[in-house]
Amino acid sequence: MPDHDQDERFTPVDLEIKKDTGVTITFADGLVAEYNLVDIRLACPCATCRSLRDQGAEVWPRPSSPIPLRIDDAELHGAWGLNITWNDQHSTGIFPFEAMRKWADG
Ligand SMILES: [Zn+2]
Repeated sequence: MPDHDQDERFTPVDLEIKKDTGVTITFADGLVAEYNLVDIRLACPCATCRSLRDQGAEVWPRPSSPIPLRIDDAELHGAWGLNITWNDQHSTGIFPFEAMRKWADG
């Protein structure tokens, strides 16, 4: 494993999933980052959403998407990422903590 996987900036020590509003991640170095639900959904890193963005299409809402957006379920994907299941049953995106942290850092 590359060294940066051990970096505490990229290691979550607490995760708070608020299914109607967003996700709060506390990183091991003390930074608390809050992410808005829609922002997370729009940044979904899965291949389907990437290709939609490449075409200039909206990742969310899709014609079949229930509104408002909600998280149905969220679980850790190994130690490195968060797998979110949305209320439109989209669940292929895994959000790496390293990317989430870089996002929070701007
Ligand atoms: Zn996606």
